[in-house]
Amino acid sequence: MNYYMPVGKGTDLRFEILTEDPKSKARLGKLITDHGEINTPVFMPVGTAGTVKAIAQPQLEELGAELILGNTYHLYLRPGHQLIHELGGLHRFISWPHPILTDSGGFQVFSHSDLRKISEEGVVFRSHLDGSSHLLTPEKAIEIQRALGADIIMVLDECLPYPCDFLIARDSMEQTLRWAGRCKDAFEKSAGCWHPHQQWLFGIGQGGISPELRRECMLRLIDIEFSGYAIGGLSVGEPKPLLYELAGESARWMPTAQPRYLMGVGTPLDIVECVAMGVDMFDCVMPTRNARNGWLFTHSGHLVIKHARYARDERPIDESCLCPVCRLYSRAYLRHLFQSKEILSAMLNTCHNLYFYLDTLRQIRDAIASHRYLDFLAEFKRKQEVG
Ligand SMILES: [Zn+2]
Repeated sequence: MNYYMPVGKGTDLRFEILTEDPKSKARLGKLITDHGEINTPVFMPVGTAGTVKAIAQPQLEELGAELILGNTYHLYLRPGHQLIHELGGLHRFISWPHPILTDSGGFQVFSHSDLRKISEEGVVFRSHLDGSSHLLTPEKAIEIQRALGADIIMVLDECLPYPCDFLIARDSMEQTLRWAGRCKDAFEKSAGCWHPHQQWLFGIGQGGISPELRRECMLRLIDIEFSGYAIGGLSVGEPKPLLYELAGESARWMPTAQPRYLMGVGTPLDIVECVAMGVDMFDCVMPTRNARNGWLFTHSGHLVIKHARYARDERPIDESCLCPVCRLYSRAYLRHLFQSKEILSAMLNTCHNLYFYLDTLRQIRDAIASHRYLDFLAEFKRKQEVG
């Protein structure tokens, strides 16, 4: 089956569902943007300040990345969205001609919790660079992301810590919904003002750890009408069963015809689990950040390269991995680079970890295409848990 889903007002993003797994909610799809097609489920490497740390753009392309994430907070503070716009937008500035998604900046502002003050208008925060004071409003978040020019942009939402009281989560959800409406208005008013290519705005569901609030938030976001929907505020310290329950509960209420994005999640197994709930898009700093800390993903769990047991180990990181690092280098050499704090250590570890994530997504898509997703999930889980 190959068909286009019906498009409605505000949902003009072309999202094609190619097939659905008969025994789970996993689906194989294609997102079509002006900068190219994205095969879903997709993992997007995190390119914080206009760079996925320790890896150059041509190599990211070779690893099969189709969509990367840029952080609005970092790009706004340095070098500034106006400068990036003057230089032709983010795609051109960073030499990445493929699709980009930017977040709203909210998550970074809220994660520096001692530096912020929230009001109806927006959130005042201090720059971590020079201490200067800034006001991020829903309108400003849209203006910055319009100027950067990413293909997919996100609403400003309030991110809560875990755990969080029900009443606080409810008030915060109301704030997030009011901000989502203001973002939509600002987005519509600024259509066609910045770039010749199309941009699409996604809403973000919040609601803390309450399944009822998660459902209510998602249904009210759908009334506002976005091109896609995201699940926010997870993977902030809650136990895994709760993460899966809340992701599943949110995904259940998301429109089937539009892309579903689970923000900031997670381990390879988290991604494999959440695809079965019908999630299409993922991002996480884990493969890149953990790589720089010497934590490497393998088909049988992970390994910590600094351990002495690898000092004379001539095997690659993962004997079944086909990445350029595993084809060339031994664990012993990678351990030596890490212990010596060589720049190449971060580069090689990042290359392997990103390959592992992107290859896991390729396997996920193959398993959905051949309608054997639950078998794949069971096998993946068994191997990860053995390690
Ligand atoms: Zn490898």
